[in-house]
Amino acid sequence: MELELKEMLHDLETLRKALPDHPSNQTLINKLQSHVEHVCSLAKSVPVRRSKVKDMSAEVVDSNPYSRLMALQRMGIVENYERIREFSVAIVGIGGVGSVAAEMLTRCGIGRLLLYDYDKVELANMNRLFFRPEQCGMTKTDAAVQTLADINPDVVLESYTLNITTVQGFNTFMSSLKNKAFRSNKDSGGVDLVLSCVDNYEARMVVNQACNELGQTWMESGVSENAVSGHIQLLIPGETACFACAPPLVVASGVDERTLKREGVCAASLPTTMGVVAGLLVQNTLKFLLKFGHVSPYLGYNALKDFFPTMEMKPNPQCSNAACLERQKEYILAKPARDAAAKAKMEAESLSAAEFPLHADNEWNISVVDDSEADKSDAKSSDFLPEGLMRELPTADDFQKPPVSEPTVSSNDDLDELRKQLEALNAA
Ligand SMILES: [Zn+2]
Repeated sequence: MELELKEMLHDLETLRKALPDHPSNQTLINKLQSHVEHVCSLAKSVPVRRSKVKDMSAEVVDSNPYSRLMALQRMGIVENYERIREFSVAIVGIGGVGSVAAEMLTRCGIGRLLLYDYDKVELANMNRLFFRPEQCGMTKTDAAVQTLADINPDVVLESYTLNITTVQGFNTFMSSLKNKAFRSNKDSGGVDLVLSCVDNYEARMVVNQACNELGQTWMESGVSENAVSGHIQLLIPGETACFACAPPLVVASGVDERTLKREGVCAASLPTTMGVVAGLLVQNTLKFLLKFGHVSPYLGYNALKDFFPTMEMKPNPQCSNAACLERQKEYILAKPARDAAAKAKMEAESLSAAEFPLHADNEWNISVVDDSEADKSDAKSSDFLPEGLMRELPTADDFQKPPVSEPTVSSNDDLDELRKQLEALNAA
C-alpha cells in the first residue's frame, strides 16, 4: 500500500506541472497531496503481521519468536519442545480465564486452538485481561481470533460461535472434538486436551458429558463468584473423578456450585485471580502435553490466605453419569495390561541404569569429605561474628545436647497414654 501511495504523490506532482498555473488548480492539488500524506502516515502505524515460521529454531537472535521457549530444552526442563506444534487444545468459554489461557498457549506456539463461546465482548469485561475496548460488540471468538492471529500466525485457530448447552451446539461441539483433519495419523481423538473455562454449572456438566462419552481427557477451571478463590482439576474419564462424581467446589469449600451462579446477582471478578487460575491451568496443560514435572490432579487457590490445596479424587462407583460408569469399567478391565507395561518399563530402566553407571568418570575431581571433620571446622568459623551482629539462632551444638532433666519415657507408655485419651474422646 505504501508503494501505491508514493506513486499517487508522484502522479499529483506530474499533474501540477501539466495543468495551467492557476491558483485554484494549485490549491486543489495541495489538498490532495496532504490527504495522501495523511493516509501514508496511517498506513505506517498499522502493525505488520510477522510471517509464519516453518521450523522452531533454538537460535538465540532477537528476531526468533521461539528462542526463549526452545531454551527450555537446552536447560533440560523439556525433552522436545517443538512437539507442542503437534497438539490441539479446545478451550470452552473465552472469558476471563479462557481468553488468557488462549493467549498463553498461542504465545507458547501450540499447534491448533479450538475456541468456543457464544457471548459478545462488553465494556463490563474490561476489568479482566485480553479483550480491548474497541472490540466491544464483536463475538468473543472473533475478537480472540483477531488478537491471537496477530500475536502468532503459526497457530491454527478454529472459532465456534455457539452455545454448547443447546442440542445443535452440543452436536457441533462433539463433531469438532472428533475431527482428525489436523493430524490424520493420530490414533487417539481429534484433540489432545479440552480446557473448560466456563462460568456455570450447566455448561460444566455438558463438557463433562462430552468428554465422558469420547473418553477425552480434560481440565476444569473455575473462579468463585466473590473473585477470591479458584481451582483447576485434571479429569481422565474412568481414571479420576468426573465432574458429576464430585463437583470440585463442593469438595474444596463445602459450597454447592449450583448455588454459585445466581440469577440477578452480579458476580465479582478480578484480573489477578483470573490471571493466576489461567496461569495454573496452562502450566498444568504444558506439563501434561510436553511430559515434564508433576501434573496436578486438583489444585485450589485461596487468594485471601494464599493457600493452594491439592488432592486426588477417585471416580465414584455410584456416579450418576452413565458414560462415566462405562469408562470406569474399561479402566478396571485394562488394569492387567497397564501393570504389565509399567513392569516392562521399570525393568528397561533398571537395565539401562546398570549398563551406564552414574558418575563413571569424575571430570571435576569431586571427592567426599568426612562429615565430622567438616562440622568441626564449621563450628570454629561460625563462632566468630562481626561487631554489632547478634546470634538469633542457637549454635548447632545446642541442638545436639540431650535433654538432661526430662525423665525418659518408653514409647509403649506414650502410645498407651494416647490410646486412653482417644478412647476418652470417643466416649464423650
Ligand atoms: Zn463420574
